[in-house]
Amino acid sequence: MNEIAIYINNLHKKYDQTVYAVQGIDLSIRKGEFYGLLGPNGAGKSTTINAITSLVRPTEGNIKVFDRDIVSDFRYARSKIGISPQEISNDWFFPVEQLLYFQAGFYGITKKDAKERIDFILHKVGLYNHKDKKMRQLSGGMKRRLQIARALAHNPEILILDEPTAGVDVALRHDLWNFLQELHKEGKTILLTTHYIDEAELLCERVGIINNGKLVAEDTVSNLKASTNKSKLEDVFLELTGRKLDD
Ligand code: ADP
Repeated sequence: MNEIAIYINNLHKKYDQTVYAVQGIDLSIRKGEFYGLLGPNGAGKSTTINAITSLVRPTEGNIKVFDRDIVSDFRYARSKIGISPQEISNDWFFPVEQLLYFQAGFYGITKKDAKERIDFILHKVGLYNHKDKKMRQLSGGMKRRLQIARALAHNPEILILDEPTAGVDVALRHDLWNFLQELHKEGKTILLTTHYIDEAELLCERVGIINNGKLVAEDTVSNLKASTNKSKLEDVFLELTGRKLDD
């Protein structure tokens, strides 16, 4: 199965006269693949994934989703992708379930059609018993789970997660990892950014290492270790970038 879900060609992003956040990234992610973009803060991970979801306008380069250009075919791209952004949105005054119906509504799904899926997702992310709570009443971990639930509301084929476990405690992090593995088994294409080594090692079939806006290496974790002759992914990272991942 070699269908390409996300194709990024020569992506550049310059935010002002001096800062090139992304400097020529080429990347192809296969349908059904679990791919991790790994890099320290400021490396260009969020800029890259925000370009895929049209939140950032590239300075140069183009991006395709299932072979269709995300600019000329933006409706198609939007329907295929669900994104969980790094920053948690602050819709404090709406109940959890309502927020998921809103989200499905953005994609033209009626309440009746969305009900079964939303109930399923609420169970999956462990929020069913909290569905009537307002967002401001949720714990940090629950907010993170709600964010992923929102990304899944229209049942997208591609799930993009920007630092999905940032600031989440260890137990919840493991729950989220299990859930992401289930989604992967169901066939979803998943792209996540992380600066947690263990997260990348456990979940990702391939890892792209990004530093100073460039993709400096890309492979399976075991191939990266073998080609650099290192036994730990953090040492691979240090070797390839001269930086520590948590810099
Ligand atoms: P990461 O997600 O890897 O932490 P980002 O893509 O957020 O990296 O940032 C890459 C670089 O671009 C950083 O130097 C950051 O300060 C800069 N940057 C990100 N967003 C903006 C913006 N909206 N305006 C100006 N500079 C930005």
